[in-house]
Amino acid sequence: ALHAGEMERRQLHNTLQELKGNIRVFCRVRPLVGGGPSPHILLPPDDHKALVLARSEESHVGRTGDTQKTYNFSFDRVFGPSASQQEVFEEISLLVQSALDGYNVCCFAYGQTGSGKTFTMEGGDSDAAVGVIPRAVQQVFLAAHKLGAQGWEFSFTASFVEVYNESLRDLLYTGKGGKRPEHEIRKSAANEISVTNLTYQKVATEGQVQNLIAIANQNRSTAQTTLNDRSSRSHSVFQLDIQGENAGRDVRCKSTLCLVDLAGSERVLKSQAQGERFKEMTAINGSLSNLGLVITALANKESHIPYRNSKLTYLLQSCLGGNSKTLMFVNIAPEPDSFGESLNSLRFASKVNDCFVGTASANKK
Ligand code: ADP
Ligand code: MG
Repeated sequence: ALHAGEMERRQLHNTLQELKGNIRVFCRVRPLVGGGPSPHILLPPDDHKALVLARSEESHVGRTGDTQKTYNFSFDRVFGPSASQQEVFEEISLLVQSALDGYNVCCFAYGQTGSGKTFTMEGGDSDAAVGVIPRAVQQVFLAAHKLGAQGWEFSFTASFVEVYNESLRDLLYTGKGGKRPEHEIRKSAANEISVTNLTYQKVATEGQVQNLIAIANQNRSTAQTTLNDRSSRSHSVFQLDIQGENAGRDVRCKSTLCLVDLAGSERVLKSQAQGERFKEMTAINGSLSNLGLVITALANKESHIPYRNSKLTYLLQSCLGGNSKTLMFVNIAPEPDSFGESLNSLRFASKVNDCFVGTASANKK
């Protein structure tokens, strides 16, 4: 049985879900390097949903003093620099939990390079700094174990893919030497997405998933040596397929938990990007903006959703839309020279946020 506090939290969560539809947007501002407050980000105290960007504009000729220009944003939740990994995870644990209730769950981290996406999704070095992926996995196994007492049996399959320049790479690949296998995304008659030659690893414990994450990191660091800072220019997609069966009650459920560390969203000046870098830039801009288009099209219940316009959305097709639940983190770097990128990221995230607020109220009419 659930205790009263937990019941209340779930009720609140369900109410939010009804009002909001199936997407939520959380903003997280990382600490300033060297500490102290950000010169241009204001987080109104006692309001966990608002964020204001403020910038002094150069004063015009003939006028004295600076003028301040402010940009107001509001999200489902705003985490300031002092928010711990634990606090952040508490806000999404119900979402993770619903993956065991048969919902597809997709969680993204969006933001410029250095804004804290990997810290949020994977975590930092200390135990307290463990991020969303390991916490989510831990919670899923714990919850599955508890549901075992009610006759449920679960099986789990993990995969970990990198999408770089519109091509896929298996982060769980352990083959030595030779040529790595090539991958293609396939859709079955039952609309299930799979990737050819990809490692789909059965897992039963948290420790096994930790081993897979170590393999993925190993794979990433070998790629890194041939291409500097590749990881910030690729999307990394962790997927846990969950199948549950309750033989006594003759019910089954099937879902996917999908946790994505997106490529850096920063705009690169065309004049500065040549050759490989230009190709990367085009691929990243294309896939991130297509992700926005897909989410917007889903919110507007459009008949055509442009999943196939990028590898990322095609890969995630079955986790986005339908009865899926989506959470987007928009990660923000507080340094003054990040002002422009922060504004871009916040605008992108607001667009995602607002189109769903719009549909939720439209649906109520
Ligand atoms: P990204 O993946 O977006 O490029 P990172 O997650 O690598 O960014 O973060 C950049 C740096 O900032 C890393 O050194 C990381 O440990 C640190 N960092 C990010 N977010 C936080 C946070 N909330 N608290 C403390 N350090 C953080
Ligand atoms: Mg990163």
